[in-house]
Amino acid sequence: MIFHHQSSLQSELQKNRVQNRTVGFVPTMGALHEGHLALVKKALSENQITVVSIFVNPTQFDNAGDLEKYPRTLKTDAQLLKKLDDKILVYAPNPGDLYGDNVVSKKYSFGGLEHQMEGEFRTGHFDGVGTVVNLLFRAVRPDKAYFGEKDFQQLQIIKKLVSIEKLPIEIIGCPIYREKHGLAMSSRNKRLSKVQFEEAKIICETLKWAQSNFSEKSIGELQKHVSQTFQQNPHLKLEYFEIANIDNLRPARRKRKGNTYRAFIAAYAGEVRLIDNMALN
Ligand code: AMP
Repeated sequence: MIFHHQSSLQSELQKNRVQNRTVGFVPTMGALHEGHLALVKKALSENQITVVSIFVNPTQFDNAGDLEKYPRTLKTDAQLLKKLDDKILVYAPNPGDLYGDNVVSKKYSFGGLEHQMEGEFRTGHFDGVGTVVNLLFRAVRPDKAYFGEKDFQQLQIIKKLVSIEKLPIEIIGCPIYREKHGLAMSSRNKRLSKVQFEEAKIICETLKWAQSNFSEKSIGELQKHVSQTFQQNPHLKLEYFEIANIDNLRPARRKRKGNTYRAFIAAYAGEVRLIDNMALN
């Protein structure tokens, strides 16, 4: 069932809430792929009601072209969800239904998690994400919400958001779903040419290489190797490669005992920006 207005979604949810049914929620921007569906399947298995939102949020884009070209495939998305389970509630609002007249971001401070990597290269991105997820959480009032580790920095920020906004929602992180050759699934992959799609596997290969070499090599050596690898590939342009402590996401320059690290990459294939990350230890 598709709802374009939160008022009608809420009346449907209310009927279920009086019966104490738990609500699981998967926020997405649509153009659904197996990665999204894995989150939805987990939500279905852990809750009695599952809500999936499909909304391309304008306030989290710092690049007008990227927003304009973001794939929008609501009809196919709704069919995919229906095939999975015909009781899924799909919330596909217009900006006005979520934001009212003022489609702008609230300013957040996420304790420093917002400054590096995606925050550094996409101005205002996490204010946009925080704002829309807060509005969606208030519209849906889920018990549990599911986010992919594909956007690991976002996942950590959402955990912080629920504590800032004092929302009683359990945030659940889900593993990254990949194409056969390793590229992390993404709605943006639809915009890649055949060659770009093939060559983009270098992102995941590089992360795997960093993972295998993490214990022997210094962070400086790992970074040097990664930037050289990308320089040799004419199809991909590295924006950043960082190794960061998962608790504060501050890029590490030296390994410290007892810390847990992840490697993070953003790279362009033509105009298409791709991100990925992997646990290192
Ligand atoms: P998006 O539609 O790109 O905003 O993604 C919606 C949710 O799906 C976010 O929590 C993403 O982290 C998650 N997601 C997107 N791609 C993947 C993937 N390849 N594997 C796992 N989760 C993903």
